[in-house]
Amino acid sequence: MAKNAEGCAIGIDLGTTYSCVAVWQEQQGRVEIIHNDQGNRITPSFVAFTDQHRLIGDAAKNQAAINPENTIFDAKRLIGRKYSDPIVKNDILLWPFKVIAGVDDKPVIVVKYKGQEKHLSAEEISSMILTKMREIAEAYLESPVKNAVITVPAYFNDSQRKATVDAGVIAGLNVKRIISEPTAAAIAYGLDKKTNCVGERNIFIFDLGGGTFDVSLVTIKEKVFTVKASAGNSHLGGEDIDNRMVNHFVEEFNRKSKLDISGNAKSLRRLRSACERAKRTLSSMVVTTIEVDALFQGIDFSSSIARAKCEEICMDLFEDCMKTVDRCLVDAKMDKSSVHDVVLVGGSSRIPKVQELLEEYFKGKNLCKSINPDEAVAYGAAVQAASLSEGIKNVPDLVLFDVTPLSLGILTTGDIMSVVIPRNTTIPVKKTQGYLTSIDNQSSVLIQVYEGERAAVRDNNLLGSFSLSGFPLAPRGHRFDVCFAIDENGILTVSAEEKTTGNMNEITITNDKGRLSAEEIKRLIQEAEYYQAEDQKFLKKAKAMNALVEYTYKVKKAMKDTTVSSKILPMDEQKVRDAITEAENLLADNQQLEAYVFENCLNKVRSIFEPVVVNRKRARNDEVVALDD
Ligand code: ADP
Ligand code: MG
Repeated sequence: MAKNAEGCAIGIDLGTTYSCVAVWQEQQGRVEIIHNDQGNRITPSFVAFTDQHRLIGDAAKNQAAINPENTIFDAKRLIGRKYSDPIVKNDILLWPFKVIAGVDDKPVIVVKYKGQEKHLSAEEISSMILTKMREIAEAYLESPVKNAVITVPAYFNDSQRKATVDAGVIAGLNVKRIISEPTAAAIAYGLDKKTNCVGERNIFIFDLGGGTFDVSLVTIKEKVFTVKASAGNSHLGGEDIDNRMVNHFVEEFNRKSKLDISGNAKSLRRLRSACERAKRTLSSMVVTTIEVDALFQGIDFSSSIARAKCEEICMDLFEDCMKTVDRCLVDAKMDKSSVHDVVLVGGSSRIPKVQELLEEYFKGKNLCKSINPDEAVAYGAAVQAASLSEGIKNVPDLVLFDVTPLSLGILTTGDIMSVVIPRNTTIPVKKTQGYLTSIDNQSSVLIQVYEGERAAVRDNNLLGSFSLSGFPLAPRGHRFDVCFAIDENGILTVSAEEKTTGNMNEITITNDKGRLSAEEIKRLIQEAEYYQAEDQKFLKKAKAMNALVEYTYKVKKAMKDTTVSSKILPMDEQKVRDAITEAENLLADNQQLEAYVFENCLNKVRSIFEPVVVNRKRARNDEVVALDD
């Protein structure tokens, strides 16, 4: 085994609550899920700090009850986010460990380790978990491992992906690629190779994990994977079911012993562990027992629970899941009958009632569940890792792509978002677009990079800006090129070049540039649809205003040109000047006006100034004019 493992690449599912590592076995031609030192195939995404040790995985989770302030979990909820992000603020309220604001508003986790206070970023915590996963693989493969494919949720933005790559680098890994979890699950089932449908294959991925619920509609066409729509609930999962069971037994203990343990954190934690075990058992048995010695004041607790009871106390959670499924399909404008495959992912999708409701929703369609749902993502990542490695035989030929979650572009005259890379473009991608300077002898341009779906940049998210200077003296309308490049991991670099001088400048959009949170991305996409009509109105007005600005600029320029103005009678010249003044007044006080007002005004100026024909636009000092409109 060891000799084949040289240079082999692993797949890691870095989960919110559990992580999983897998490798492609060349000789057997299949994926192996690698068990950890405790013999478990999934490892809790927990890191704990004590006076003597740092613990990762099962060891960390097992001592959580006695060391809550220094046991860190849920780091994935923090990764690539700002401290002031409302989502982060909310999560902090629920955690027993301390999180403070650091440099550039980055969240910092504070722990006590070997008697000293230590400050850690989410990337560092994630890197510790990744290191553990790498070591698990190395122990099994009896060889060092360098290369890995790591998965992230479909809606992770650039900053969250970049931070995940950083975590991999800190863990000493060469991150060959970041792929999305639903894509990995679809690969695990080899759904790209099924050919019993013409054209596109529509796959519905249902991922119910420990603390998050995500559904995605992925389409595969000629080996290109596209996440068409996603929906979810970032605080719904197995832990909510555990909580319901805990409440159930707290009441029962109260009835039996007349003691209330709801205020005792230690008793509750021990009861919660027992409930989680019972819940897992109920996925295969119809009834199970629960036993906790000396639960409270030395009193032992012993009881049983039937699957039906558990389903009853959790029914509203399951129904919520189904509503989300429906919403995702509505968003994707797809009828459920057009879905070819339904794939179960996440440990909690093992729950029989969940499967039953899902089967019912998809009208009896068989669910893909032959691969363990909590292993499917790592499984797909391992296949992808092998396909990216050189010299590995027997591996499925897999060329897969991810897509951009939001459109990317730059600000152009009139506040218009000029999209360079539209949403859902397959990555990696590189696209160059030409732009024009907006005034005569403009020596520099300011490139402002935005992401979002709205027509006006003010409604989108500013990612960063840079200027390109040293332009040669030239009339307005001098061309320069802007290039957007997104690499395999979804990381964006924007560069600009002025060809005649060869001057260049560029920006890489990194963590601290304030990319949007996952929820914000979802919200923006929904908002964009909602505001479509409004956006069209904005665009129409902005374009009408630009056209008027443009025309008056040219008229004024022409009037200064004696070869033109000398041909105009003084009476006409006054008419032209009046018309321009009127246009400029309109433009200056444009708030309440609609597009047609500017269009009419343009027609009027034009009819007065017929003989002068020019066709360029005017803008502010360092503004950029889109070439294509
Ligand atoms: P993550 O959200 O980190 O991706 P997983 O997909 O591994 O996590 O799911 C973990 C959750 O799955 C936990 O809440 C765990 O209790 C639950 N789970 C695991 N196995 C079962 C099972 N057999 N029945 C019900 N729930 C399960
Ligand atoms: Mg998961």
